[in-house]
Amino acid sequence: MSQQGYVAAPPYSQAPPGMGGYQVGYAAGPAQPLYGHHGGAPHPFSAPVAGGVMKPPGSTAAGMVPLPVSSQYNPNYQQNGSHQQRYAAPPAVSHGQPPHALPSSMASPGPPPTQQLTNQMSAMNLGSYGQNHMQHPPTSPVVQQSFQSPPPPAVGQPQMPLGPQVHHAPPQMSPPQSSTTNMSIASHSMPGPPMGGPPMGGQSMGSPVGGGPPMVGQPMGAQPMAGMSGPFPGPPPPAGPGGFQHLGPGQAGPPGYPQQAGQFGGMMPGPQASMQGGFPGAMAGPPQKKLDPDAIPSTTQVIEDDKAKNGGQVYCTNIRGQLPPLVTTDFTVQDQGNASPRFIRCTTYTLPCTAELAKQCQVPLAAVVKPLANLPKNEAPLYAVNHGETGPIRCNRCKAYMCPYMQFIDGGRRYQCTFCNCVNEVPVFYFQHLDHMGRRVDFYERPELSLGSYEFVATLDYCKNNKLPNPPAFIFMIDVSYNNIKSGLVKLICDELKTLLEKLPREEGADGSAVKVGFVTYDKVLHFYNVKSALAQPQMMVVSDTTEMFVPLLDGFLVSYQDSKAVICNLLDQIPTMFADTAESETVFAPVIQAGVEAFKAAECSGKLFIFQSFMPTAEAPGKLKNRDDKKLVNTDKEKTLFQPQKGVYEQLCKDCVVQGCCVDLFLFPNQYLDLATMADVPSHTGGSVYKYNNFQMETDGEHFLADLRKSVQKHIGFDAIMRVRTSTGFRATDFFGAIHMNNTTDVEMAAVDCDKAVTVEFKHDDALSEESGALIQCALLYTNISGQRRLRVHNLSLNCSSQLSELYKSCETDSLINFFAKSAYRAILNQPLKNVREILVNQTAHMLACYRKNCASPSAASQLILPDAMKVFPVYMNSLMKTAPLVGSTELSTDDRAHQRLAVMAMGVEDTQLLLYPRLIPLHNMDVDSEVAPAPVRCSEERLTDSGLFLLENGHSMFLWIGQAASPDLIQGIFNLPSLAHFQGLTSTLPDLDNPLSKKVRAIIRDLQNKRPNSMKLQIVRQKDKPEMLFRQLLVEDKGLHGGASYVDFLCYVHREIRQLLT
Ligand SMILES: [Zn+2]
Repeated sequence: MSQQGYVAAPPYSQAPPGMGGYQVGYAAGPAQPLYGHHGGAPHPFSAPVAGGVMKPPGSTAAGMVPLPVSSQYNPNYQQNGSHQQRYAAPPAVSHGQPPHALPSSMASPGPPPTQQLTNQMSAMNLGSYGQNHMQHPPTSPVVQQSFQSPPPPAVGQPQMPLGPQVHHAPPQMSPPQSSTTNMSIASHSMPGPPMGGPPMGGQSMGSPVGGGPPMVGQPMGAQPMAGMSGPFPGPPPPAGPGGFQHLGPGQAGPPGYPQQAGQFGGMMPGPQASMQGGFPGAMAGPPQKKLDPDAIPSTTQVIEDDKAKNGGQVYCTNIRGQLPPLVTTDFTVQDQGNASPRFIRCTTYTLPCTAELAKQCQVPLAAVVKPLANLPKNEAPLYAVNHGETGPIRCNRCKAYMCPYMQFIDGGRRYQCTFCNCVNEVPVFYFQHLDHMGRRVDFYERPELSLGSYEFVATLDYCKNNKLPNPPAFIFMIDVSYNNIKSGLVKLICDELKTLLEKLPREEGADGSAVKVGFVTYDKVLHFYNVKSALAQPQMMVVSDTTEMFVPLLDGFLVSYQDSKAVICNLLDQIPTMFADTAESETVFAPVIQAGVEAFKAAECSGKLFIFQSFMPTAEAPGKLKNRDDKKLVNTDKEKTLFQPQKGVYEQLCKDCVVQGCCVDLFLFPNQYLDLATMADVPSHTGGSVYKYNNFQMETDGEHFLADLRKSVQKHIGFDAIMRVRTSTGFRATDFFGAIHMNNTTDVEMAAVDCDKAVTVEFKHDDALSEESGALIQCALLYTNISGQRRLRVHNLSLNCSSQLSELYKSCETDSLINFFAKSAYRAILNQPLKNVREILVNQTAHMLACYRKNCASPSAASQLILPDAMKVFPVYMNSLMKTAPLVGSTELSTDDRAHQRLAVMAMGVEDTQLLLYPRLIPLHNMDVDSEVAPAPVRCSEERLTDSGLFLLENGHSMFLWIGQAASPDLIQGIFNLPSLAHFQGLTSTLPDLDNPLSKKVRAIIRDLQNKRPNSMKLQIVRQKDKPEMLFRQLLVEDKGLHGGASYVDFLCYVHREIRQLLT
């Protein structure tokens, strides 16, 4: 199958028109003047389902809400998973435009990957912005504070006066503001005495904001770090929101910047040093008078408030620009014309009308798209629309798919595309009359007219080489070198596969799985196995020349597990013994991936490789690696090289994999450095995942690994995918972050995409946006599903636009914002010194908040920190992000671990980054064991721990059970079946199965969390004051970082100071 034949084309054959600013050389869309010449002024957008009501088909009565799952649509629409006959093709003359144009990427081969990477890198900006000097937050703020309740409406502003003006001043009270909104920061946790007025409240823009019971802070500038000076005089970043720019030549970092780059941590030599060995709590140094932690915005409180408000509710998607409940809230979505927030979340649901406003506020405009997100059982799976051979109906010009935003006119004979304004003929077979409202009478019967998300059954035009795809295949590739045999890993994998292969993923409703399976073992050579069902015994074929990889057999390599079960089980039984006496310790790696690609090529299918490897590939072969770990590079301008993959072989492999739809999941079991940055290069460009088990021990890690393997094999996944994000005029998608591959500026290519992978898309203005028509996003994913059907999944979302920045701030979603910042920063560190990246993060945080203060908040004392309600906990997330391993420049951290986290985050959705950056700390010692729900988490800080307590802490990747020194014997007995803590033996990863309510409840909570997360988490049990407690404390993100990084309080004070400097 030639690369030429890769059909990305039909669905994405044209650049959207009217989008000026394409780079020279990119296939140009129609020239601007064409714009809107058909239809005149754009129609104002109207909510697709007015009043939030959907009618069942055949009923004209308004007011009926459809059942979430039903066969309300006509038989031409099949529920995903069923396999109905294709819709009879309409007469050839009547259909709309079948896609036909060649894609630009096909007509002229895209740039080589090097070029591509260069292009992406050059999109990162760092201008004079990055040269601003940073100052360290004071190490001992003496701050007393409280919030005041401003008047309604919705945008509440926690106010935290900090700073010199009120230094040493007693708390001041301002007249209480009326507070009719229920929002509030820390309202319940307000310390009693200093509080006066109603503790909380939303504040209306423009209403006077009193001084409020202020937080009196020590002047931020009181203790500048030695050598650190310089206010924040620089101009705003030229890059616009979210920008990371290259430092141009001669634009070195700030002169005189201390080499210890750690923005915060690194610049706190005193406390930091003393912290290295001990615990923050036991830190030496001047006594700190701390800001009352209860009085600064609390993430757990924000989460609990949203749960109280939206938990268990039905969220209807019929309102444009509506802010969904938080990712941490359980709610039910009813699709009424906009995509569920499970599929798309935005950094803000109100875009600024102009590029100038966007630049002014510095709030990144981005969407986090998880196109194949899992839906809970009580929500309807997507409908599949089948227009037969005609294929999906699309705008002739911009190729947007039929959706609820298209405006039917001329008695239903034509429709105007809301994305580009082009007027299109309605294909004859698709014609329908309009009702008195101008809406098609079959509106509610067609998913593509009434729902935000649906699928089209794709036609041959959407398939490679105009051939329907074959079902995907899974190939299990096991490193059988000495260590893997000795550790028992090979046997563990083989034993597990015998049961796991019975549960291969299948389309809902299908009898069995269509997925084919194949097996390879390898060390310095590769062994392929013929497991054809007719054979009595599996046959092995060895390929020892790994320079030109080929697959020695076609027939019998990829088979149906059900057909070949006997032979496969025979093979899996034999593998561990076949290699039992191996002395081989070297392995190859790139040829293993190459073999997978060749196998898929030969079988004309896409699929996934599951590779199990322990060490760096040092055998003589393409892709051989050597140890290039160098801790001396940490905190230097060359640190970025530690994150950069080796070019060459792996770069080409990425490309080959993407072309073939070959996804790579990598399971690593290292006990030393293995250049993860390079080994993970292919997985991270093919929609794959990397799992890492340091110093793998069968007893403690076996189950943990198997749980990951099971999830990986069984998860919902699509292959050979290409995604295109279209927008209405005035703005467009300019940048993409994820486990993806880009050959041009618009097509997001993914060898595979699973239910947990998200692509973060940044938008920029081309032109002014209109408040009236709003902004539309249509995200189309073309992919091959698990049974081999080609599908087009379409997600539509409508956003508001406003010329008032206050509206934008009101519509921000902190969890999505931090997802964007994490990904853009993690990509930027490939090209820039970490300290520059951290500076940009802090500066942009200050800019966003200063702009709010200046333009949206009521006049108030400069000493007050005023945060937009929707972003009130943004600083804690930002501070947490800067303390993550990739950004924290510490020689104590493993280079591979840092690279691993960097790559994992790049593919994360909003839920995952939220949890990673603000872990759950759940008190278990005083919970109601009869309650159905788990106890509410408490703030992630050492201060929340109690000596007699028992706490569970998890961030989606690690899980700890922390036992206080003074935990009662009853508690220890009830959970561990031990008389006291002293009997506790080392690290264990499981809890005994005890028959008492407490033990059952604790295990149920752990099980529930494990099930919810994309990865399995190894339970680590730590006792207070034991050495492993360090690992636990790293996750307490409100405290000072163990490897550098400020506490939440210090960071907030620091940001406040930056804001004040920006405002003066
Ligand atoms: Zn269009």
